[in-house]
Amino acid sequence: MRLPITVHRARLGKHSYRVIRPRPTPPNVVLRDFRNRHDEYDIRLDAHAAHRIGVAWLLAARSPRSLVHIPLRGRPTPVTPQCWPRCLEWCCPPARDERQLDLLLLHRGLQFRPSRWKEVRARLDSGRPETAELPASDAPDDEAPLPFEEHWMDQHPLRQHVYAETLLLTGNAPLFRELSTHFLELATRAPRMRSLTGKAHHCNELRFHQDPDKGSQLHITYADRWSGTDIDL
Ligand SMILES: [Zn+2]
Ligand SMILES: [Zn+2]
Repeated sequence: MRLPITVHRARLGKHSYRVIRPRPTPPNVVLRDFRNRHDEYDIRLDAHAAHRIGVAWLLAARSPRSLVHIPLRGRPTPVTPQCWPRCLEWCCPPARDERQLDLLLLHRGLQFRPSRWKEVRARLDSGRPETAELPASDAPDDEAPLPFEEHWMDQHPLRQHVYAETLLLTGNAPLFRELSTHFLELATRAPRMRSLTGKAHHCNELRFHQDPDKGSQLHITYADRWSGTDIDL
């Protein structure tokens, strides 16, 4: 698997940071902050974006010394706030004007203080293009059962913070590799199931087990209609 990226550096005091961005950010994806009403973040994306972002999680798994940044704010949103034509799923939050966030993946071993992100981002250089090569064997086997029992997540916790309009997810290599499947699986399943069943809502839910608020999650939802703004409901 090849992923075009831009590699940026920032220097802050005696520390130097390496920040990787997919190049370009896929167009049809938006991450919104629903914590005030639903205890969750909602990322809505088409199949191309789901695949790209899944591969970016695999790259994060392989990059323990880098921060993987996916800029997402200020971009087009899906043509309807919910799934088209109308969503009956209880898990589908009706969007109003929730603020948009960027996404940042980083390793616990970096001991990066999330509050530093704003300053690091401000000091990033203009970066240089590269292409990341990832062996296909990095992608977890679709058929294998996912180890999402609580004890597995306790060993490989995923922590979430929001700073500087960015959702920072801190984890480790096994966790990023496993969670990539939430995106890669949706990229293949959702379009197929939409055309087979006509069902509008296809999602995966990524729970933050160690969050003090046990209900919090990242809700990952397929959306295939992004162009234009007029639509009959
Ligand atoms: Zn859902
Ligand atoms: Zn829905």
